[in-house]
Amino acid sequence: MELVFATGNRDKVQEVREILQSLLTEQKIEISIVTPAELGLFDDIPETGSTLEENAEEKCLYLWEKLGRNCFADDTGLEVDMLGGAPGVFTARYAGPSKDHNANMDKVLAEMQAVEERNRENPPARTARFRACIALKFNGTLYRFEGVMEGTIARERAGVQGFGYDPIFIPEGSTRTLAEMTLHQKNAISHRGKAVRALAEFLKGASR
Ligand code: IMP
Repeated sequence: MELVFATGNRDKVQEVREILQSLLTEQKIEISIVTPAELGLFDDIPETGSTLEENAEEKCLYLWEKLGRNCFADDTGLEVDMLGGAPGVFTARYAGPSKDHNANMDKVLAEMQAVEERNRENPPARTARFRACIALKFNGTLYRFEGVMEGTIARERAGVQGFGYDPIFIPEGSTRTLAEMTLHQKNAISHRGKAVRALAEFLKGASR
């Protein structure tokens, strides 16, 4: 089975391949995840929705229209409670269109510090979550999957693994950031790991 993954992010491709291939080869289902670039499509896939679900669907349908092959897209948001759920749908470009991970983390940390300084007597919790939405177009029908990981935002960066906001996100029940974990450890608990495992369950059923 071949699926096109609507992303140009190599870290995401690596995570998704690791999860899908390990789950599906156990079931003797061959799966190949290919990227638009590997098929010669280098478009900047549009993300103009106002929710993660809309963005995942828009990216998936864009690819479906261009390639006419079974495909899926994910859209992920970080929701920080003391920032009223921001950056949310703006997670990738929170500090500007260059989508710079370090600038994004600096902005989140500075805004959280400002909220804490305004509420010194009763500082709000540093709780947050990652939410991943996947849209899959499979044999002409659109399906959706979701995964959530709860946690807290660290006061400073730690670790060098992963990407994006990993150095400042501490999953619930852990003392380490995602960037201090191996890919395998992150995938076992992450938002994308959960959403991709739900996708794998669907694909198992579909290939029976
Ligand atoms: P996208 O729009 O789904 O590509 O992702 C939005 C942004 O969320 C990315 O640019 C990253 O900054 C961040 N992000 C997505 N997934 C993760 C993750 O697993 N760890 C840390 N940051 C992530």
